Amino acid sequence: MEEYQIDGKPDVKSLDLGELERELGAMGERSYRAGQMYQWLHRKAVRDFGEMTNLPQSLRERCREHFFLTALETVKVLESGLDGTRKYLFRLWDGNVVESVFMRYRHGCSVCISSQVGCRMGCRFCASTLSGLERNLLPSEMLDQVYAVERQTGERISHVVVMGTGEPLDNYDHLLKFIRLLTDERGLHISARSVTVSTCGLVPQMRRLAREHLAITLALSLHAVTDEKRREIMPIANRYSIGELMEACRDYFQQTGRRITFEYSLIGGVNDSGADAGRLAALARPLGCHVNLIPVNPVRERDYVQSDRRRIQAFKNILEKNQINVTIRREMGRDIDGACGQLRRSYQEGNGSFT
Ligand code: SAH
Repeated sequence: MEEYQIDGKPDVKSLDLGELERELGAMGERSYRAGQMYQWLHRKAVRDFGEMTNLPQSLRERCREHFFLTALETVKVLESGLDGTRKYLFRLWDGNVVESVFMRYRHGCSVCISSQVGCRMGCRFCASTLSGLERNLLPSEMLDQVYAVERQTGERISHVVVMGTGEPLDNYDHLLKFIRLLTDERGLHISARSVTVSTCGLVPQMRRLAREHLAITLALSLHAVTDEKRREIMPIANRYSIGELMEACRDYFQQTGRRITFEYSLIGGVNDSGADAGRLAALARPLGCHVNLIPVNPVRERDYVQSDRRRIQAFKNILEKNQINVTIRREMGRDIDGACGQLRRSYQEGNGSFT
């Protein structure tokens, strides 16, 4: 449990029930107290030990001394007038800020969470990586984003996507613990099938994930169909070739039986030709992948532009002609948009206010 410490104290929300029992046992408490506390933390999403009203007052006070209980502070909420999408900027206990997004779909409500403060992957089109990686998020801090959004919207969250700031597989152990806590039947109990993790393609971690026996969906941010083009826009492509990525995808599918999603951000004049679409179909087809096309969100610091509507449609048609299951990401909250990481970035540039 060494890794779940904040200010030298155990980070109580990152502990599973067994670990919590051991911690409380060491404090001389009976094991049913752990079950009670776990419910307050993960079902009722309390922000303070004082709210745990079925625990004796003395125990609540000892816990306050012994543990660190994380809670997010809401810095800003932007709500779309078009579809109810909400973007949250949350402040963590150490002053860092992260973004989360709430989306309402026909099949339920979804939260998109961040997995790191910043990112070190350096994708050229992405705002989250412009000032590098600050630190990894703890399991508790990923859970807090889901809990805070559920609490503030009053809606039951059915889907969680790890597609906000950060590379989740670069924070592997904390991500896995987060998923286990999130899907635990004694907690929020989100179905593993309703959890999606998006990666820029860290091959060793993809292979490791395949062996965890989780029914989650893995999404691969492919964005280019030749190694040369991929290296231009994603530095990680210097480490792993598309061939190695496809091998890792095949392995993931074989191990888990779960089909992979390819994410493909369309950048005008860069990766949106008919030939690109044909090659993408050839990569996706043998793996039965679903392709999710994302019209690129222009980032102020970069000169990439969106493909025009006709190009996007033509690209989609080529994939469909090749029997690929394809969607164009619905542009949720277009009026409050801003690419991945831009809300946090405008906050940083304004040194704590908005530019
Ligand atoms: N690091 C992970 C998850 C975070 S990004 C990953 O790379 O998958 C979530 C998705 O948004 C990725 O597919 C990412 O490439 C894409 N993305 C980031 N910035 C974007 C932008 N400006 N326009 C369109 N898609 C973007």
